[in-house]
Amino acid sequence: MRLRHIPGAEEQIAESPFVIQAPWANRGHWAEVFGNTNPIEIEVGMGKGKFIMELAQSHPQVNYVGIEVYSTVLLKAIQKRKDMELPNLRFLRVDARALAEIFGPEEVEKIYLNFSDPWPKDRHAKRRLTSPGFMAVYDKILKPAGAVEFKTDNRDLFDYSLEAIPSAGWTVDLQTFDLHNSPFVEGNVMTEYETKFLAEGKPICKLRARRKRG
Ligand code: SAM
Repeated sequence: MRLRHIPGAEEQIAESPFVIQAPWANRGHWAEVFGNTNPIEIEVGMGKGKFIMELAQSHPQVNYVGIEVYSTVLLKAIQKRKDMELPNLRFLRVDARALAEIFGPEEVEKIYLNFSDPWPKDRHAKRRLTSPGFMAVYDKILKPAGAVEFKTDNRDLFDYSLEAIPSAGWTVDLQTFDLHNSPFVEGNVMTEYETKFLAEGKPICKLRARRKRG
């Protein structure tokens, strides 16, 4: 998702109390940021933040970090959460490539990837958020029993992920090609893109991955 440049976006982000400005300084110490030792879950590429804000509202005992690389998109999320009382939610404007410099080993319980950019050209495969390179980054920060949950409407990206994720040393322990007509839909929180694609009648694919044991 890219939006037209908004003058002053960087300044507003720099002043926002919801955005952690030097996140790498908290590596290994995120419990201090939240003031508790509750589990930490992150969404990579949160867009305007609907999904993670709803999760934070309904699970006050979990800490959430929403990650978005584009300032203009992050600004929309900041504006949306202005009137919400969510002490368990912070935002970062960073590229997911840097996650292992921001979170220490085993500091994260769960990683959500929702409707990630498909990067359809083969030469861009390394940019896909489910590619082995990114899975190696998630491996560094997730707890041993931690999970990556991925939803997409893009069948090519999903099929690619079903091969790429196991090749990187992970097991896919849940998968569906039609989330909304499956038992896994219970408790599902919709993202902005999901709402749009579902209204267009597109099936939503979902998988969950954990590290292979032994
Ligand atoms: N998750 C939201 C949803 O489902 O409605 C937004 C989906 S949008 C297609 C993908 C988002 O991921 C975009 O806002 C994009 O800027 C962000 N993104 C893509 N690559 C990223 C990266 N490497 N690090 C952080 N954010 C990224």
